[in-house]
Amino acid sequence: MSQLQPVRGTHDLLPLEHQKHSCVTRVAHGISKLYGFNEIATPIMEFKDVFKRTLGDASDIVTKEMYEIADRGGEDIVLRPEGTAGVVRAVISGGLTQSMPLKYFYAGPMFRYERPQKGRMRQLHQIGVELLGVSDPVGDVEVISLAYEILKNLELHDRVTLEINTLGDKESRNTYRETLLTYLKDHHAHLSPDSQMRFDRNPLRILDSKDEGDKRILKGAPLLSESLNDFSKDIFAKICEGLDLLKIPYKLNPHLVRGLDYYCHVAFEFTTTDLGSQGTVLAGGRYDGLMEMMGGPSVPGVGWAGGIDRLAMMLDNKFIMDIRPIAVIPMDENLDIKGLELANLVRDQGCFVEMTYGGNLGKRLKKANKMNACAALILGEDEIKNNTVSLKLLDSGDQFLIPQDKVNETLREKGIRQW
Ligand code: ATP
Ligand code: MG
Repeated sequence: MSQLQPVRGTHDLLPLEHQKHSCVTRVAHGISKLYGFNEIATPIMEFKDVFKRTLGDASDIVTKEMYEIADRGGEDIVLRPEGTAGVVRAVISGGLTQSMPLKYFYAGPMFRYERPQKGRMRQLHQIGVELLGVSDPVGDVEVISLAYEILKNLELHDRVTLEINTLGDKESRNTYRETLLTYLKDHHAHLSPDSQMRFDRNPLRILDSKDEGDKRILKGAPLLSESLNDFSKDIFAKICEGLDLLKIPYKLNPHLVRGLDYYCHVAFEFTTTDLGSQGTVLAGGRYDGLMEMMGGPSVPGVGWAGGIDRLAMMLDNKFIMDIRPIAVIPMDENLDIKGLELANLVRDQGCFVEMTYGGNLGKRLKKANKMNACAALILGEDEIKNNTVSLKLLDSGDQFLIPQDKVNETLREKGIRQW
């Protein structure tokens, strides 16, 4: 039977769940357009190198989480684990680096070989935005404001906390790396094997460790904020000032770091306590070095990605469309096609119409009630002969005989037509 299950860590989006997913995407896309971020779609498959070069050889994603595909041509291809590297790759391959700034929105599935839990899938879905070519903090504030506006429209802004921090510029991070190494040297033997490897390759990564032992050691570590130079402090102050002005609430979290190599300056996460341990619903930061790392020109960037699956889990049921259909009931199977014709006439006006299939009037009325129809349009031989139709309001039981060419008008008069 196991073949009949979805692959571990993947889920079918049945219609009700799908409505929540598409609501998140639709709202995010709509608000992004208001900010001038237009949708881009890059392939789900990329060369492994796209991520290896950007996420870094030592990242969890590259070492443990990537789905590699055995391509028949022998190419090293992977299923994308995240969106940013692919978007930046597309900008370079498309020769778009001359026309800055570039503002993109994307939505789609990502793949990571992780241990599946509530809110943590192997096929996950993300929305995201990237702003390329703006190094000024106004860019950082604008993308955070866009995220906040999306959450507000999903009525989730009161259920999340925006946590922000700065990783500073390269100089600040280099200073901090030395301070951190000095502290961690004494604890080296007690670090997790992963962090011991990071100690040599990229010690800042240790800050992002999920290992409980590492977390305990890190409690006593010096803070990155103590190593910031004035330039980095000034940039971060401007971002905070911008958020204050736009009345976007936030909490400074000096422990927040992003796990990937290409981040600098601002790092932020919207977190919630509503989803158990998988509390981050949207996360991002500035990635000024990324484009150059991929072999393109030096173009600054800032952006974020939000987890559609986690956001959809938080979404109130009222976001699920609950429009009641109008049922078409031909009294005899010979009249079914006539019924379809009538259904189309009403659908032409933007109404939700369900056909009832098979059985006599009684059976079909039962089906209409089961589909929670608000009204039924009943067609019998007499109605066909006289070009009429019986309209039955299913809540009150009231019934009217009306001319077929007055159907839409009558539905509107009775307040049944949805727009
Ligand atoms: P985490 O620390 O939870 O592993 P991350 O740092 O790997 O998150 P990002 O790469 O920043 O996550 O992805 C952005 C968002 O995408 C996350 O905040 C989360 O909402 C969502 N996300 C990431 N991985 C998963 C997953 N495996 N399943 C569901 N959603 C995910
Ligand atoms: Mg992760």
